[in-house]
Amino acid sequence: DFSNVDLLIVGAGFYGATIAERVANQLQKNVLLIDRRSHIGGNAYSEFDNETGIEVHRYGAHLFHTPNETVWTYLNRFTGFTDYKHRVYSTYRDQVYSMPINLGTISQFFNRRLSPDQARALIADQAAEMAGRNPANLEEKAISLIGRPLYEAFIRGYTAKQWQTDPRDLPEHIITRLPVRYTFDNRYFNDKYEGLPIDGYTAIFERMLKHPKINIALGVDFFSLKSSLPPGLPIVYTGPIDRYFDYSEGELGWRTIDFEKETLNTGDFQGMAVMNYADETVPYTRILEFRHFNPERSYQTEKTVVVREYSRSARRKDEPYYPIDTRQDKDVFLRYRARAEAQTNVHFGGRLGTYRYLDMHQAIGAALKAFESRVLPHFAEGQAIGGEK
Ligand code: UDP
Repeated sequence: DFSNVDLLIVGAGFYGATIAERVANQLQKNVLLIDRRSHIGGNAYSEFDNETGIEVHRYGAHLFHTPNETVWTYLNRFTGFTDYKHRVYSTYRDQVYSMPINLGTISQFFNRRLSPDQARALIADQAAEMAGRNPANLEEKAISLIGRPLYEAFIRGYTAKQWQTDPRDLPEHIITRLPVRYTFDNRYFNDKYEGLPIDGYTAIFERMLKHPKINIALGVDFFSLKSSLPPGLPIVYTGPIDRYFDYSEGELGWRTIDFEKETLNTGDFQGMAVMNYADETVPYTRILEFRHFNPERSYQTEKTVVVREYSRSARRKDEPYYPIDTRQDKDVFLRYRARAEAQTNVHFGGRLGTYRYLDMHQAIGAALKAFESRVLPHFAEGQAIGGEK
């Protein structure tokens, strides 16, 4: 019975949870929030491992960072943050280098002490093949940024494993996620705000969604409800957009990850949270060791939890993580977006609903914007919630 539901939200990840929280607290409207999974939090969900007490992010490492003051202030209403600053190392041919590529990586790789200017000149020389040309894909963009030798060591093999797509068919924005620095700063992110939630990720969602106007139904598949919904019921849909339209325009390409979790009888396996593996001969892309995300906690020191990540292309029953976004995917997506524009009672959002690799802060930021531009005007003035251009 949906007579009491003012808004149906499909998906309890950051996008859906943010809208739910705003609608309940600011508008005092009744929200029904459903999720196919048995828990809230979407891919940001984490749990404390029974055996070791260590917080494990079930769907891969989630590092919170944002340049956006509004998002930071908003999220700080539901959690405090630790002062964790993410750092990553990469193993290549039995050596360990710091990532993203910085002056330390460059000096170590070329086995020379280099000043920032010397390193710039060296890289410019090694990127000469791209001089005066506009990079048109991931490979060209990477070479223009770091030159061919560093590209071939740290990017080509890792990217081949992560995407199994010719790097010349991948969009350049994938690689511009990684900064290149001519200093010894080896922080992974450039953002002003960074940290991990003090009580873990799931607690954030519990606090956001704890409201008498928010009803949560877990283990509920939207598509088994769809035909019994009252016509015109406003919906925020954060599931896969191709699934919504029954794949009528074709399937969008996604990468999924197989997470291989292991508990080891040691207090420290690798000395840091994330070790990338650049060599193509190593089948996994990286190993996460979760205890290192929370050095402030007094975890036991007998055991540690590690997770190896294996990337492969997603089939319909797999969890979609990374939009591949080839040229063909872009065409297919545009056709879905045109169809979405005709659904005036459905607003599409989130990573799956917009086929974009949103970081957590981007999903929250987009949801806060959509609340102001679509959801609020819907309840205040009767404007359609969906059908956006
Ligand atoms: N990448 C790489 N080598 C690395 C780390 C990243 O080639 O050691 C490339 C790879 O193509 C990857 C992209 O940079 O997909 C973005 O990396 P990021 O760490 O942002 O990926 P995420 O952590 O979101 O999986």
